[in-house]
Amino acid sequence: MKRLEGKNVLVTGGSTGIGRATAIRFADEGANVAINYHSSKTEAEITLEETKDACSIIREKGCREMLVQGDVAREEDVRRIFREVLKAWGRLDILVNNAGIQTASPTHEMAADAYDRVLAVNLRGAFLCAREAVRHFLDRGGGGIILNNTSVHETIPKPQYAPYAASKAGLRALSRTLALEYAGQGIRVNTVAPGAIRTPINREWTDDPGKKAAVEGHIPMGRAGEPEEIAAVFVFLASDEAAYITGQTIYVDGGLTLCADFRTPWS
Ligand code: NAD
Repeated sequence: MKRLEGKNVLVTGGSTGIGRATAIRFADEGANVAINYHSSKTEAEITLEETKDACSIIREKGCREMLVQGDVAREEDVRRIFREVLKAWGRLDILVNNAGIQTASPTHEMAADAYDRVLAVNLRGAFLCAREAVRHFLDRGGGGIILNNTSVHETIPKPQYAPYAASKAGLRALSRTLALEYAGQGIRVNTVAPGAIRTPINREWTDDPGKKAAVEGHIPMGRAGEPEEIAAVFVFLASDEAAYITGQTIYVDGGLTLCADFRTPWS
């Protein structure tokens, strides 16, 4: 018996990067996976095919997959995403709020619209999805699981990425609040905070050897992380092995939050 066999999971922003790796890993654990995507249908279809291939249990016993288009920042889209999943499968067990964007600009030059959009996707989107999930969990009884993808920047400041850092710190606060608010109803809410992971959001430095070396120089373990290393923690937190964990952040960052500059004593 696979540890997530028969569970229905919705992964937002599942067309690339960590979302894709997470969809695939959930299928490998026996879950049925709904993959939300915003604009990149071609990429989402790649995720869908790889998720199908990853299904590790006898297909007749389950392992369903579906694509659900929608912008998580839009309330009507989020309502429709949940309607489509619940119409197809009747229940949802796990939500992974993964969709996220970032934009770089000195804060004094940043347009308000750019700031708002990052907050809308990263924080409002997670709220809208979590709200629909909680409504469903309360309605059917028996609890449920919400997992949020923040970042080491939920605590580490990130100059020129102010809305990103603010959104991730906000998402941490949202997670902890929901965890406390609904613990009594069997709803667990946890957060994974990745460090520097090799995904499309980081093309600016992953594709440039000099910049990559600079980024990796700050990581005590000396390398960027892989999306699969984040997906592994999501499936752990979704499993019964994490049954007593709620309201927590797990940093998956190769030691980035340990402050690499202190590796060598000064005296
Ligand atoms: P990515 O760009 O590959 O993934 C982001 C996904 O979100 C994309 O598939 C994109 O289409 C989707 N998305 C964007 N706007 C959306 C919207 N409005 N509605 C639905 N989906 C939308 O990069 P990634 O690194 O895989 O990022 C996934 C998450 O991981 C993000 O929340 C990001 O902040 C977080 N994260 C990434 C890193 C890293 O180093 N890669 C580190 C910390 C946190």
